[in-house]
Amino acid sequence: MIKRLIGMLFISLACTSLVNAEAIKKEKIPEKKQEKAKPIAAKKLFGFVLKGADLKAKAIGYYTRGCLSGGQPLAVNGEAWQAMRLSRNRNWGHPVLIKFIEEFAKKVKEEDGWNGILVGDLSQPRGGPMLSGHRSHQMGLDADIWLNEMPDKRMTYKEREEISAVSMLDKTRLAVNPNVWTENHVKVIKRATQFKAVQRVLVHPAIKKALCKAAGDDRDWLRKVRPWWGHHYHMHIRLKCTEPSCKAQGGTPAGDGCGKPLDYWFKLLTRPVKPKKKPKGPPKKPRVKDLNWMPKACRVVLKAGDPPLLKARQLNEEIELPVRKAVAKAEETDDKLGELIESTETDSSVKP
Ligand SMILES: [Zn+2]
Repeated sequence: MIKRLIGMLFISLACTSLVNAEAIKKEKIPEKKQEKAKPIAAKKLFGFVLKGADLKAKAIGYYTRGCLSGGQPLAVNGEAWQAMRLSRNRNWGHPVLIKFIEEFAKKVKEEDGWNGILVGDLSQPRGGPMLSGHRSHQMGLDADIWLNEMPDKRMTYKEREEISAVSMLDKTRLAVNPNVWTENHVKVIKRATQFKAVQRVLVHPAIKKALCKAAGDDRDWLRKVRPWWGHHYHMHIRLKCTEPSCKAQGGTPAGDGCGKPLDYWFKLLTRPVKPKKKPKGPPKKPRVKDLNWMPKACRVVLKAGDPPLLKARQLNEEIELPVRKAVAKAEETDDKLGELIESTETDSSVKP
């Protein structure tokens, strides 16, 4: 009797386990979702590197999509210049840009009636896109030079963060303000155009107009001075790309650019502002510009020498708000840079 009971128990146990096995077989076990590596914006990778890539100096790519190999820092003080906004760490450039600024500053002091120049943003240590501001300035060949003269005294770190640049425009924003605009401004901007290495100089249309008026018969240099939005606090000096690693920008059109082309700019400046149309449907997510968006050679530049990174905790209150916000969002860059780069690589042919 007991034997029979034990036997039945075994049979029923075996049956239930068989049924369970069948049930498990039938039940679809969801495959583990493969986690896709989130693309990391290139600006976060380039924006935190503290030092230049110790490689041959090269401008790579284009002014608005590129990077800088062998970048050098501009000294924060020179005989005739002072670098501004030091917390941004954007006083790096191609050696030809550094040499240009040194020579340009010296000439301005010797011949154009200024104590010297205030140097704004150049590039990040390895160029590339930035966490805030600027679309260009990516390959160490762009420089912003303030339009107010360098003061007599050497400024402190704090002053260089806080002092505001002075707009050259009057209240109408369509003409220069005679209280701040001087003959020396004409000389200094003209001076920049006299360097062979300079491709173009960008200024606000109202400044271009003032230059057109002041130039008299000597007009060849005006060709390099191009009107562009903004640029009434500083001028943007762009050097030519002369290396096979970068793409040159087309030349400036013939003529002084003072007639019709400038009139067109004033039309743009005075046109009524149209209210923005609401886009139909859900807002499109902008594509993350990760390393795949950049020239391949920029990976080598980014990785070279396992660069030290700026950590979010190193930032203090003195750093401007947009940068602090961007850093707070991007704390993951506290990880190793190499790992971050690998996680964004999709092309296996790219060797570090
Ligand atoms: Zn600029």
